[in-house]
Amino acid sequence: MSSKKRFAIIGAGLGGAAVAVLLKQAGFDVTVYERAPRFSRLGAGIHMGPNVMKIFRKMGIEEKVSLMSSHPDYWFSRDGLTGEYMSRIPLGEFALKEYGAAYVTVHRGDLHDVMLSPLDEKDVIFNKHLESIEDTGNEVLMTFADGTEAKADFVIGADGINSMVRENLLGKEEPTYSGWVAHRALITGEQLAKFDHDFEDCIKWWTEDRHMMVYYTTGRRDEYYYVTGVPDPDWNSNASFVDSSREEMREAFDGYHGTVQALIDATESVTKWPLKNRNPLPLWRRNRMVLLGDACHPMKPHMAQGAAMAIEDAAMLVRCIEEVGLTDFETAFELYEANRKDRATRVQATSNANTWLRTQEDPAWCFGYDLYSEPLKNISK
Ligand code: FAD
Repeated sequence: MSSKKRFAIIGAGLGGAAVAVLLKQAGFDVTVYERAPRFSRLGAGIHMGPNVMKIFRKMGIEEKVSLMSSHPDYWFSRDGLTGEYMSRIPLGEFALKEYGAAYVTVHRGDLHDVMLSPLDEKDVIFNKHLESIEDTGNEVLMTFADGTEAKADFVIGADGINSMVRENLLGKEEPTYSGWVAHRALITGEQLAKFDHDFEDCIKWWTEDRHMMVYYTTGRRDEYYYVTGVPDPDWNSNASFVDSSREEMREAFDGYHGTVQALIDATESVTKWPLKNRNPLPLWRRNRMVLLGDACHPMKPHMAQGAAMAIEDAAMLVRCIEEVGLTDFETAFELYEANRKDRATRVQATSNANTWLRTQEDPAWCFGYDLYSEPLKNISK
């Protein structure tokens, strides 16, 4: 039998994929259990800032991600009604020089594929829905919905906002509905070409209580994506998303600038997602179990840094495990929490407040962060 410590990771989302790759590279035995039967290329884009691209460098996927992504020169914020610029945040060459890596926007499904690519097929087991989990003191026993069981030395809960691992640590508690929904739509380059507008690479249109964030999801710029934040106090569905419509979009963005109206006209299908979150958790770990990503700090997505925080968590967790070793795993996990909590909580609060880059602010504290050169905070014993 191998003497390598066995890590079970619950959830193969962006956080689970990152921690699995980094642990495997560090020489540990990893198995990822994912409840979905497979992943498909769902209609959504995602931003990845230089803070994450530096972690992709360590994972060996930075170049691949860079090649398939769009590289905006700026994040623009504009008044939704008048079109007036509220901020022009330099990215592009400036990000490479000042923050040490690129700022990209990309299709989430394409990114996910690349993030999972360093793993072998046997490392990720699909159709494994964790139903219960028990820390027996010297190992962790997992039971899945199909009646099978598995054991591991340590379990990482990367199982998202409704995390079963979180529930085991802290008890059952539904996340809170924020009162806002997000509409999401992908528009083909062909559709866009029918409209005589300057569709900027990365732009957020704002009014007081709502916004629309728009960007390309490929390096070829043949797919454009928008995601909104719109108040909807009456949401009462249990579905993770529902279909929306062009008519609903027109109503929600009535009076908005002509470029936004063109995007709505170009929309062929659009979905609507309730935005949920939780208050910061009182603990992120206990004994042999530890949480990361949305399992421990879900947030409204308005800073475009939720997955980034899951990936940073993954990298910091592996760094702390390598630093301390697993003979004293509780100290390793404590060091991880101590080195993540403040930053993740700051991002969570900023994202929930939806103020990020609305005006000409300096984003260096977020984009310039280099997880691997940051000195580790001490923990007092
Ligand atoms: P998840 O992505 O939720 O992954 C959890 C995984 O665990 C899933 O695959 C799930 O199937 C699996 N799972 C759950 N329960 C079980 C179980 N019991 N057993 C087995 N498997 C299980 N972030 C950014 O950084 N940039 C952006 O631009 C951005 N845009 C966003 C736009 C919107 C509209 C939304 C809603 C979010 C956005 N985010 C963005 C946030 C980002 O999507 C999340 O923060 C991120 O996906 C969290 O990753 P995770 O791996 O922690 O969890």
